[in-house]
Amino acid sequence: MSVLAELLDALRSHRVEVIDLTAPLHSGTPILQLPPPFANASPFSLTEISRYDERGPAWYWNDIHTSEHTGTHFDVPVHWITGKDGEDVSQVAPERLIAPAVVLDFAEQSAADPDFLLEIDHVLAWEAEHGPLPDGGWLLYRTGWDARSEDAEAFRNGGASPGISVECARWLADEAPIRGVGVETVGTDAGAAHSFDPPFPCHSFLLGAGKYGLTQLQNLARLPVTGSVVISGPLPIVGGSGSPARVLALVER
Ligand code: MN
Repeated sequence: MSVLAELLDALRSHRVEVIDLTAPLHSGTPILQLPPPFANASPFSLTEISRYDERGPAWYWNDIHTSEHTGTHFDVPVHWITGKDGEDVSQVAPERLIAPAVVLDFAEQSAADPDFLLEIDHVLAWEAEHGPLPDGGWLLYRTGWDARSEDAEAFRNGGASPGISVECARWLADEAPIRGVGVETVGTDAGAAHSFDPPFPCHSFLLGAGKYGLTQLQNLARLPVTGSVVISGPLPIVGGSGSPARVLALVER
């Protein structure tokens, strides 16, 4: 049997399960809130074009209004000043949108301390137990924040949300073989990361190193620690700094 026929057979028989890591996209989907004087992204919204009426008797459709960074989305290098000469979202090679993933679970620590930061030692301890981070793959950082994603206030949590330390972000960008970091929070950086040096170190170092971010993921608790494959589908917005994305994981049972 061909590899693809085998995959289809495994999907049909549920030996390979498809898990949706994407948050539903609607007007209440939480978005980042930067303090003045900074400009903010738009929430998601629909504007009806027609709905089986005089504007279009047999069809229903909407315009969508969104930012590139609303809901579950994909960050690319050009999003940050450190990556300004790097890829825009239309330039990401399609092969890179299918990649191995591992899950580092710090939900318990994040529940105890919403400002919890992932450190290099946490990752080294994880590697000692589970093996190296995947070459060209995703480090998916579970914090339990997806449970808050339908409650914008709880999701924002007064600006306190878990993230990654400056040293760890630099190490993941420069030393680790991963292609990107995926998180459950509104962005890859901690809620307090505006006060770090440099500010927003995940964005600064990872995007500066040509790597990617995935944010507002859900259902990471349903993934195995190692061995899943993530398929992410950002729109190829020409010149875009990111895009809302459907993100799926393939898991072997
Ligand atoms: Mn973003």
